[in-house]
Amino acid sequence: MANIIDGKAVSEIIKSEIKIEVATFDIKPKLVVVLVGNDKASEVYVRTKEKSCLEVGILSETIRLDENTKEAELISVIDRLNKDKTVTAILCQLPLPRHINEHNILLAIAPKKDVDCFHPINVGLLVSGNSYVEPCTPKGCIELLHRYNIGIEGRHAVIVGRSNIVGKPLAHLLLQNNATVTIAHSKTRNLKEICRNADLLCAALGIAGFIKGDYVKEGSVILDIGINRTSDGKLKGDVEFDECQHASYITPVPKGVGPMTIAMLMKNTFIMHKANMNK
Ligand code: NDP
Repeated sequence: MANIIDGKAVSEIIKSEIKIEVATFDIKPKLVVVLVGNDKASEVYVRTKEKSCLEVGILSETIRLDENTKEAELISVIDRLNKDKTVTAILCQLPLPRHINEHNILLAIAPKKDVDCFHPINVGLLVSGNSYVEPCTPKGCIELLHRYNIGIEGRHAVIVGRSNIVGKPLAHLLLQNNATVTIAHSKTRNLKEICRNADLLCAALGIAGFIKGDYVKEGSVILDIGINRTSDGKLKGDVEFDECQHASYITPVPKGVGPMTIAMLMKNTFIMHKANMNK
């Protein structure tokens, strides 16, 4: 049986560490989440973020905007938050309604308040190894490996998925930790063979149970980043969990990478707060 990497438990430890540190500050960090429209999944994520802020002592505000909000209106809301000295960090919940250009919105958030690390300046800092915050989900993956003392250096990491949110930034963080990195995607040939070569297999493609037992090398480490809702309403990862018990470690879904994403959001907000306080 593979060892389970308990992301939920680790995330609780990290949040309690942040809580202790936040308590030492008179001025508290503040995270503002902007939510446009009525996407149900986004609503759940936003509520989880609010709850976590409360747990660790970070002030939180959610600005809910109508589905028909114009791009210019959203940019002016972000502009106001950029200028507001009481706001530490801004997160614009994705996906946005189709009529709004996501890139323009990510550009509008001031880099020093861009808690998701999606602004091109922050992406550049990440790629060049000079970031002070990193995208929350990939950062959570690395943190999990560190907390379980799972070595990254010299290992062959295969990431299935090349999105700007997960796959690409994870590749950079793994590189910075001296892994040899392969990024696979929907046009990759011989995907199964490539995955079977992985010491560390990171699944971030968004297809429930896509990675089967025969994609996985004996003794490898699996990070299942996918979150998919099945027809019976349950959450399922991109990895066929039961078939992959010949791995040495595996993250479950739920309670694997997901809770770490939120913990890293708290951590990034706090890092930004400390950076502002020192100016
Ligand atoms: P995207 O849809 O943006 O990207 C999916 C990637 O997977 C693309 O690069 C795509 O390739 C690749 N892909 C799709 N089908 C295949 C296939 N058959 N074979 C190989 N590669 C394929 O998804 P995200 O990166 O945003 O999210 C991925 C998963 O992670 C989702 O399940 C999402 O819910 C989850 N997620 C979880 C988070 C967490 O907190 N744990 C946070 C964010 C996301 P191509 O580029 O060629 O199209």
